[in-house]
Amino acid sequence: MKTSTNVLQQPVLVLSRSYLPVGRITVREAVCLIARGKAEPVIVEHLPCWPVRSVGCVLVVPAQICLTAASVERLWKVPPVTRKELFARDGHTCQYCGAQRHLSIDHVLPRSRGGTHTWQNVVTACASCNNRKGDRTPEEAGLKLRVRPRPPVHPAITFAAKLWAGQEACVG
Ligand SMILES: [Zn+2]
Repeated sequence: MKTSTNVLQQPVLVLSRSYLPVGRITVREAVCLIARGKAEPVIVEHLPCWPVRSVGCVLVVPAQICLTAASVERLWKVPPVTRKELFARDGHTCQYCGAQRHLSIDHVLPRSRGGTHTWQNVVTACASCNNRKGDRTPEEAGLKLRVRPRPPVHPAITFAAKLWAGQEACVG
């Protein structure tokens, strides 16, 4: 028997309304999407279900949930790398020092050395960190990335993550 903490960390596959997979979240995040009417459980035989006990009720979370979200989210695709999208992904914060002013795009592996203009190779950096780094890798410049850069995720997953980070007011 797993403890309830372990249950909350189990993976749940998120499907769009047309049943295309859009990502993976935890049972903890799935509970919140279901409770808010943003997703519905998808019961599939042979796949596990986890009972989650809350005050006075038990919610069963299956291994797959389906979004009930609007068509914009259903048709969501990973956006191209732009300043606006990049700063949004990084929360308008320098990924080296945490500064929130004088932001610019930094290519982790510099473009002059074959670095690509892709989500995995771009981060938000302040002018000071960008200057210090110059034409070097973070290791060479003695800088450390706070998070490994990844493509932005589906809005429903951002929604779930923000909710658990206690930023409910920011969710539109
Ligand atoms: Zn910085």
